[in-house]
Amino acid sequence: MITIPETLHYKEHKPVIQKLSAFADAGPKNLHIVADFDLTLTAGKNHGDNLGTWDVMDALMPPEGVQAHNAIYQSFRPTERAGKLTEAVAKEKWSETLDLITSYHMRIDDIEEAFLSVAALRTGAKELFDACASNDIPTVILSSGIRNVIEIMANHYSLRPNFILSNDLIVDDSGRVCDWDRETLIHVLNKHEMGHKELSSLRTMRPHVLLLGDVPADTMMVPGDDNVIRIRVLDPRKGETHNLRKEIEESFTAGYDLVTEHSLEPVAEIVLQLTEAYSLTPATLSE
Ligand SMILES: [Mg+2]
Repeated sequence: MITIPETLHYKEHKPVIQKLSAFADAGPKNLHIVADFDLTLTAGKNHGDNLGTWDVMDALMPPEGVQAHNAIYQSFRPTERAGKLTEAVAKEKWSETLDLITSYHMRIDDIEEAFLSVAALRTGAKELFDACASNDIPTVILSSGIRNVIEIMANHYSLRPNFILSNDLIVDDSGRVCDWDRETLIHVLNKHEMGHKELSSLRTMRPHVLLLGDVPADTMMVPGDDNVIRIRVLDPRKGETHNLRKEIEESFTAGYDLVTEHSLEPVAEIVLQLTEAYSLTPATLSE
């Protein structure tokens, strides 16, 4: 029998259990995972730090660069938190940020070193990816961050995502970042469109999705309701405080089914429960 791990928050027990039971009945061959990257799969070296790609880039820029980056971030973050960011503004702000970062021609090796010294994989993320890999459940990382950084993290922690859909930094022959790929800008609000090709073919073969995100807009990475279970990682960003009760309520309003504080361990537990439940169904036993 499927149970909801006790550290997870939900609005109503019954609809979540119904979804989970349907997922278990359909089995892991019908399941895939779509996860956001920054602050969903990343955390920080110490508990309470909540860091990702953009913090790493700050570590590599001179003070005036950090100041300019912060000014861009603060110009949209309050609107984003309020769920009122528009696509036009998101596109403009992400482009400004990537233009700024690439203007410093960082060495890709320095980005790797900085990432590994500043950020870390969130607790439970390794267990989650391992549970998926050992049960042949495809994983997709869909991010408005930077692909090169996601690859660094995946290699370092031996994660094997099937797809990484994100923004590409262009690196020249000397190993320095010289530009970014403007054709495929993924910002916080167009993830569903930019990942459409890869995601829709996966969805045809495996209709059930576990979606993981950290902001309200991440619920839109994948369309649908009954065959999507949306889980939010709720962990205050550095320098931000939140009212837990209020943030949990807002998560449900945004469309999340479950909320986890800090850790992805309960999500790994759900994946294991789904695969174990399936392997114990009478239909499988009589085959
Ligand atoms: Mg994120």
